[in-house]
Amino acid sequence: MIGDGMGLSQLSAAIYSSPTPLALEEFKVIGFQKSYSSSDLITDSAAGATAFACGVKTYNGAIGLTQDTLPCLSILEEAEQRGLATGLVVTSSIVHATPASFAAHQKMRIFYERIAEDMAASGVDLLIGGGKRYFDRRNEDDRDLLAEMQARGYLVRDYFNGDLDQVKPDPNLNFVFFTADNQPLPVNQGRSYLAYASRLGTEFLDLRGKDKGFFLVIEGSQIDWANHANEGKLAIQETLDFDRSVGEVLAFARRRGNTLVIVTADHESGGMALEQGSKQGRVKPEFTTNGHTGSLVPVYAYGPGADAFAGIYENTAIYSKMRHFFGWDTDQNSALQLNKTTTQTLNN
Ligand SMILES: [Zn+2]
Repeated sequence: MIGDGMGLSQLSAAIYSSPTPLALEEFKVIGFQKSYSSSDLITDSAAGATAFACGVKTYNGAIGLTQDTLPCLSILEEAEQRGLATGLVVTSSIVHATPASFAAHQKMRIFYERIAEDMAASGVDLLIGGGKRYFDRRNEDDRDLLAEMQARGYLVRDYFNGDLDQVKPDPNLNFVFFTADNQPLPVNQGRSYLAYASRLGTEFLDLRGKDKGFFLVIEGSQIDWANHANEGKLAIQETLDFDRSVGEVLAFARRRGNTLVIVTADHESGGMALEQGSKQGRVKPEFTTNGHTGSLVPVYAYGPGADAFAGIYENTAIYSKMRHFFGWDTDQNSALQLNKTTTQTLNN
């Protein structure tokens, strides 16, 4: 679970703004990770997510590529190839940098339509987020990726035909739900699906993954955008919204007993601090920048393997720790590779 731009100050501001304890306060194992990229001490979300997805430091803007622009097999793609169920649930468009880095391979994060092609071909079981227009009303070609996905066994739904909680996904089919044509609304303008989508996502993938399990990425995407806009109150609201989603996933993990939950940020943004005069219930967050910062960001872990997430380590170590606890790093006979479609798109 990734709170985009959710550093310690965002957490602090949310804790002191909430009348009740946050779900994040329930974690007993907490560490810090170094978020820098190969090109800059201050990472962007593309390089940050590629570090989690592939275990490599790459240049800012790279989607699922090494710093030499070679596609890397992401942990989501590996999970898919090994027969696990996989999913991406976000509050940005689904082709935005963080989700894209797990299921696409492109030289620049702004290649949204190519990212949509990669995602449509990725075989991911569950997609929930905005960005429908990059799939069905494209500028670069006339392809209707949603029709193509439907033909390959996806149930495709969107907010035009009702809210997410009015749709019943079929566990025998992959499921795509678009929450917006482009970017979903900020939480203070009525967006409210993340917690529900997180519960739906865990339960749906639990069924789809059968005895093999699942890998799910959930992002609170817009904490970062509130930080960029230096809107402290909104950053707090977005953090609390993400925390409700964390609460749903923790509840699932407690019920099941065999789920490793990792919550972190790709980087801090805004350089937020709680200013003098802040009070419980009325904090005064201020910002030092409109961009990202290089502060270490917290990692919270719960479940089997959680202890390995204490300490200070590279963001890329999150990838290797996840792979380790899936039991894949000792697997000798794996012949996993990127699918051809993905590599072809990149070379076009
Ligand atoms: Zn940002």
